[in-house]
Amino acid sequence: MAAVREEVSMPSIPGDFHVHTKWCGHAVGEMEEYVLSAVEAGLPALGFSAHFPMPVHQQPYKVCLEEAEVPLFVEEFRRLKAAYADKIQLLMGFEVDFVDGEEERVRTDCIERWRPDYLIGSVHIVGDWPFDHPDFVDRYERWNVTELYLTYFCKLRRMVRSGLFDVVGHLDLVKKFGHRPEGDVGEAVSELLDEVKAQGMLVEMNTAGFDKPVGEMYPSDETLCEVARRGIPLTLGSDAHAPQQVGRYFDRAVEAAERAGSRDIRLPRRR
Ligand code: ZN
Ligand code: FE
Ligand code: FE
Ligand code: ZN
Repeated sequence: MAAVREEVSMPSIPGDFHVHTKWCGHAVGEMEEYVLSAVEAGLPALGFSAHFPMPVHQQPYKVCLEEAEVPLFVEEFRRLKAAYADKIQLLMGFEVDFVDGEEERVRTDCIERWRPDYLIGSVHIVGDWPFDHPDFVDRYERWNVTELYLTYFCKLRRMVRSGLFDVVGHLDLVKKFGHRPEGDVGEAVSELLDEVKAQGMLVEMNTAGFDKPVGEMYPSDETLCEVARRGIPLTLGSDAHAPQQVGRYFDRAVEAAERAGSRDIRLPRRR
């Protein structure tokens, strides 16, 4: 009996839609260096996702654009978009740190003013704690880890429910340093994903996690299966903070999507 061999092709990579540059303060490299790196990697598209200015400086470091820098970022984006039009498609996005009560500011100061191609909604702060910052990692000890996960997912759900964003950024970022909940948080994840589906958002496969203590992608394989099962489309981001990180581990991300049963990896767009 002849073996039936199906041609299996991997889902195609639409581009890298989560990168930072020198504008974010804690990342390095000119925007143009990221473009060149993406072209070199053969990516069809690149989306800049500078951290949008935060209302209050919640961290003692520069982690986002200053208000006055946004026009400069936008101007440089437009220059590059025109200059590289025949080589790569460039998108202008922002990564917005969700803050309760700031929804109207995001609508007017970000969406209406700058008309971005897409917005990534992320949660980096629980209470007043930037839990993903290495300098504050000792504060995990103050938490019951299960409670922390539930608090985090609850805030992420409010981000999703706001209807302002197109992409869920690094969905399970709270695992970054390897702290795992003892209790079951599956129900919180399920409720979150139901909301993501209802809002028509994309879930980002963020490959920065491979280089963090947790050593795996955001979201986990298990969560990715839940995403695929609901028919929620995916997008891709390296969360590069240096030009050479553009497109990092995308082969692994595509394999993970394939294993989870999804081939729907998209270029993000305003809904
Ligand atoms: Zn960053
Ligand atoms: Fe982030
Ligand atoms: Fe980021
Ligand atoms: Zn990020």
